[in-house]
Amino acid sequence: MSLTIKVLLGVLLGIMLGLTINLMGLNTSGYWVKEYIVDGLFLVVGKMFINGLKMLVVPLVFFSLICGVCGIGNINTLGRVGGKAFLLYLMTTAIAIVVAITISVSAGLGDGMVIESESGFSAKPTPPLTDVLINIIPSNPIQAMANGDMLPLIFFAILLGISILLVGEKAKPFIQAAEIANEIMMKMVMVVMAVAPYAVFVLISRSIAELGLDLLSQLAGYVLVLVGALFFHLFVTLMVVLKLFSGLNLRTFLRKVRGAQVFAFSTASSNATIPVTLHAVIQRLGVNNSVASFTVPFGATINMDGTAIMQGVATVFIANLYGVELGMAGYLTVIMMSVLASIGTAGVPGVGLIMLSMVFTQVGLPEEGIGLILGVDRLMDMIRTSVNVTGDAVVSTIVAKSEDSLDMALYDDFYTGAVDTSDLHIGSK
Ligand code: ASP
Repeated sequence: MSLTIKVLLGVLLGIMLGLTINLMGLNTSGYWVKEYIVDGLFLVVGKMFINGLKMLVVPLVFFSLICGVCGIGNINTLGRVGGKAFLLYLMTTAIAIVVAITISVSAGLGDGMVIESESGFSAKPTPPLTDVLINIIPSNPIQAMANGDMLPLIFFAILLGISILLVGEKAKPFIQAAEIANEIMMKMVMVVMAVAPYAVFVLISRSIAELGLDLLSQLAGYVLVLVGALFFHLFVTLMVVLKLFSGLNLRTFLRKVRGAQVFAFSTASSNATIPVTLHAVIQRLGVNNSVASFTVPFGATINMDGTAIMQGVATVFIANLYGVELGMAGYLTVIMMSVLASIGTAGVPGVGLIMLSMVFTQVGLPEEGIGLILGVDRLMDMIRTSVNVTGDAVVSTIVAKSEDSLDMALYDDFYTGAVDTSDLHIGSK
């Protein structure tokens, strides 16, 4: 059985087991199932796997960016690739939130509804834009790596790559070393992925066991509109953008990003999914490493279409619940804030809620409103992270196509890496 199938099986079995545990009420404190399985074994194995993925992110991004910059070999091209990616990321996020607000307003979401507040949400402040800009340049690159801060890490690696190019001939051995290191890191991704089906199984079991169905039905309107808007963005907006800008076959694309989507769903973190996204974008879609090494980690940090959609839907929902009239100016503020907030925050679980509290403060909505949607947020986070990661892959593919850095033979090969994941088997090759 191929790894992809095993992972999908892990998702399915995880949902089934999670639901069983929840429906039988075994996830209440005092039960051994909760103490030893859900909060014991599942928690440990799941967290170990996510740590395993995160462990790869910094060295992988670092080495692959050095190789990427040296591969591009020209500072002008580098600027062009960066500019295109940045504009496309902003554009898709802006479309996402406009569509989300439109759908929620026309569905009359939250009109005439009253729900008991769950509260319990305390907002952490989001970094102000000035800090985001200043901190792009790391005062200490090692510290940025240690903290896993993406933008300063990207900045340092790009500058290092440029300096290597400027040194020229003498720096060749360094480039070779970086290339070897990059290959080793890619291999390490495979090693970690070997346990993915089991990890995905426990991660999803645990989320579903904790969440259950009650909350979902209580917040059915919010969940339905949000999921609808997320799917619309995934299958309509992003696909139209991909078709318009690249003319590529959409079915092939969707098939090849499936793996990255599943990991984004299981981990609820675009950052932790970077190794898998890079693998899908380079090895399956055929994007040249020089483009992908830049666009993928960049996208994981600044591009959050799904998160923006959640903010649009949540704002309309809470505003209606509390009877606040936002008006055009209010909505425009929401759009701007969400786009800006997605630039400054990293793709880690739950960060969307922090951004949401910033949006609420800005437009004068009560922050405790966030408490209402808190219960279902984990599941929504899983879905929106898949959308975020798909957006990263779409933009990477468009930029690569426009730069003539897309291996068309690899892209057009419908089956490459999609079903046969023999490249994921450790050792034998
Ligand atoms: N978990 C999301 C991500 O990593 C961010 C969020 O919406 O909370 O992309």
